[in-house]
Amino acid sequence: MSQAPKAPSLLELYPEETREAADLLKRAVPHMVRHDIPPNPLHYALWFTYCRGSEPELNRRLDKIVKDFASFPPESALKLFREYIIRGELEEARAGQQQVIELVDDIEHGVARSVNGSQHYQESLSQGLAALREPIAEDLPSVLNELQLSTQQMQSQQEQFLYRLRAAQAEIQSLRSQLERAQAAATLDSLTNVFNRHAFTRLLDQALAKSTQGLALVMLDIDHFKQFNDQYGHPLGDRVLQHVGQLLRDMLPSQGIAARYGGEEFCVILRDCFEIETASAFAEQLRLKIQSLRVKVRSTDKVLDSITASFGIALAETGDTFDSLVTRADDALYQAKRNGRNQTHPPAPETALSA
Ligand code: GH3
Ligand code: MG
Ligand code: MG
Repeated sequence: MSQAPKAPSLLELYPEETREAADLLKRAVPHMVRHDIPPNPLHYALWFTYCRGSEPELNRRLDKIVKDFASFPPESALKLFREYIIRGELEEARAGQQQVIELVDDIEHGVARSVNGSQHYQESLSQGLAALREPIAEDLPSVLNELQLSTQQMQSQQEQFLYRLRAAQAEIQSLRSQLERAQAAATLDSLTNVFNRHAFTRLLDQALAKSTQGLALVMLDIDHFKQFNDQYGHPLGDRVLQHVGQLLRDMLPSQGIAARYGGEEFCVILRDCFEIETASAFAEQLRLKIQSLRVKVRSTDKVLDSITASFGIALAETGDTFDSLVTRADDALYQAKRNGRNQTHPPAPETALSA
């Protein structure tokens, strides 16, 4: 009967981590001793990360906790562990939940084992110290042997835990990137690669809740797009939408957000925009870029058509809600259509036009 292949040990999986992990452990332990922090894996994980310095905010919080409290409250350790080592978003995301639960279970087993180990160590340490206090201890060599043995056992437990922690971190990292990809897929419009309507709604709500100051909304709608589709077909129409998405991404100022609001309608949220003229000037640049796009037959490069879009702009005011701001931008867009399309409403100032 053939035997199942043996799973590689963590030592085999992560040989290059040994020295670095041991070094970090050496640096973490004195912190824990200094602040009388029990040696369990949650604490190791936190002080290990502290010494690695990869989470400056965690370091600030740990410094504050040890300054404010004489002891290290266990609930703080668990909270920090969730926030900085396994991250809150992982717990929320259904996709990664099961794996994270398994990892945490695994780590909790490590907690139990290491606590047992350290208790045993502390017991034999006290025995050893008691024996050393006696003027002549006949069994001193055996006490020292016992002490050495339990120290070695605890060290090897700590090392094993660190390997597992490193493996868990690598796995968490890969889960995190999977979740980030899943999150991007859930918030982006697949055709145009700008945010989808669902994400736009959430982002505009958030922006309004933060402050209405310096917030502007630009809505644009491609002109006579139904006619374009009818004449050239839906696939070419899709390509136009992709180009418009690309233009929006290219021209977006920092902190700006571009989204596809519906079929051939897009929205841009502008930040640090205190005058409606600033938003109109941005919309005007976008309008000119769209107007200069040329729709060509791929195989022959023959120019078929050009496209235009109309823009409505609204500046957020105190008390604005999602609906009130979107309605004002939509009304302005309707006005631009009524005024003859291929224009912004309100119009951009002359200076911006000639710029
Ligand atoms: P207007 O200038 O008044 O905006 O006219 P319009 O034809 O652009 O407006 P209308 O709302 O009548 O038509 C919108 C068209 O957009 C209809 C539909 O065929 C097209 N459209 C919506 N979504 C998509 C899409 O994903 N791909 C393509 N190719 N066309 C789309
Ligand atoms: Mg439309
Ligand atoms: Mg349209």
